[in-house]
Amino acid sequence: MAKPAAKVRPEHSNYIAGEWVAPRSGSYIENRNPADTRELVGRFPASTAEDVEQAVGVAAETFQKWRKVPAPRRAEILFKAGEILIQRKEAFAIDMTREMGKVLKETRGDVQEAIDMTYFIAGEGRRLHGYTTKAELPNKYAMCSREPIGVCGLITPWNFPMAIPSWKILPALVCGNTVVIKPAEDTPLSTYNFVSALSEAGIPPGVLNIVAGRGVEVGKALLAHEKVRLVSFTGSTEVGRIVGQSCAATDKICSLEMGGKNVIMIMEDADLDLALEGVLWGAFGTTGQRCTAASRVVVHRKVAKKFTSMLANRAKQLRLGPGLNEKTDVGPVINKDASEKILEYVEIGRREDKAKMLCGGRRAEKGDLKYGFFVEPTVFSDVEPHMRIAQEEIFGPVVSVLECRDLDHAIEIANGVKFGLSASIYTRDTNRAFHAMEDVQTGIFYVNASTIGAEVHLPFGGTKSTGNGHREGGTQVLDIFSEWKAVYVDYSGKLQRAQIDT
Ligand code: ADP
Repeated sequence: MAKPAAKVRPEHSNYIAGEWVAPRSGSYIENRNPADTRELVGRFPASTAEDVEQAVGVAAETFQKWRKVPAPRRAEILFKAGEILIQRKEAFAIDMTREMGKVLKETRGDVQEAIDMTYFIAGEGRRLHGYTTKAELPNKYAMCSREPIGVCGLITPWNFPMAIPSWKILPALVCGNTVVIKPAEDTPLSTYNFVSALSEAGIPPGVLNIVAGRGVEVGKALLAHEKVRLVSFTGSTEVGRIVGQSCAATDKICSLEMGGKNVIMIMEDADLDLALEGVLWGAFGTTGQRCTAASRVVVHRKVAKKFTSMLANRAKQLRLGPGLNEKTDVGPVINKDASEKILEYVEIGRREDKAKMLCGGRRAEKGDLKYGFFVEPTVFSDVEPHMRIAQEEIFGPVVSVLECRDLDHAIEIANGVKFGLSASIYTRDTNRAFHAMEDVQTGIFYVNASTIGAEVHLPFGGTKSTGNGHREGGTQVLDIFSEWKAVYVDYSGKLQRAQIDT
């Protein structure tokens, strides 16, 4: 079993103006290992609006200097941060497994994603392209450029506790904004590790600040603050709606990344062994707690029976345990509330007359597992599209298998939910793959691969209720964190009237 590398500092502080500052309330939230709650990972500030006020004030002041630092210089600091992250990758992955629960190979992936994003976005410091174009009038020049926005309030979830903060912090900084981030209550340590690396790399005091605490206190205060010009949020649909409404009330730019009900479609010509690996990885990787997790599998009726039994057999064999144990396949879920919510959905599924639960469905409590929040990988078959387990985001190791008649039927089922994040098709027929790619209403689509595995240099985000139209990742993220300025230079030396003025 791997040993925790980072020392446990019992009490962490907020990070404001380059200093570690205790929360004004003097209160802390315990961060415990979800695989074994006897282990205390640390205590993190239960901050209040007063701490937010201080951090936002500092960030607003610092913005005036940071926006003037040339973007390539800002980016140089990110390149240095990338090197630090590489050196600490293993220690950060271990810290993350301890606070979040997912298995080490996945937390290594989470840190790697932050590293990849750091280099990718650092490269953008030398681009941040605008463009020039022709003006309507002679002796007139027209162009547009990206400008920084101001203080960005970032609110992040617990499932990718370093990768998701990196998707937001890095583009915000390279575009010339300053940041106040509120990490998730369950997993603040990974954000602290990431921010520490950036600060060690030379991000000036006040440019990047952390205020840790509860959503209803710190998150709410960020949303209400008039000096916060932009909020970027990833989390549940319920909270995302609150965030969107609050931002509308205070005229903030707002990017929302919310739920998913992702689907894998398996056609009768598919390589079923390959599809099986994709479903196991998509449904039970990160214990099903990814926004892109595959929670619906739509299988052609000719192969449905065979595939479902292959899936249930393998799901039963998955080893539950602490993520630091290299032999573990599936770690715990994040906390007690999550395990209860998942088991409630299992009950909802069991009450459906037609659906059959083929495996799992219980909390795993054997031996030391009883000290953590372990839920057995669960497979339902004979699920129908209208059922709640096929419609609502469960965010746990529960997968529903539905049957389809043909590709059109599969696409109809795929699109019959309110979310639109990720989808995949397994088929050997290229024509069908392209038809599905075009007609499935998601922001991410895979062919012969699972619903997960996004790469940082492509846009990440979803359609419909998954978000509000923005994309993180790719160069598209720069559109969230910068504002366009159109510039006209008239060098005619006389009053020229544009056509719309005449
Ligand atoms: P998840 O449980 O998937 O992390 P949540 O939507 O509950 O999703 O939380 C995502 C983030 O939003 C967390 O950092 C949480 O503290 C924060 N949050 C929760 N409630 C609010 C709220 N009312 N206002 C602002 N932020 C909130």
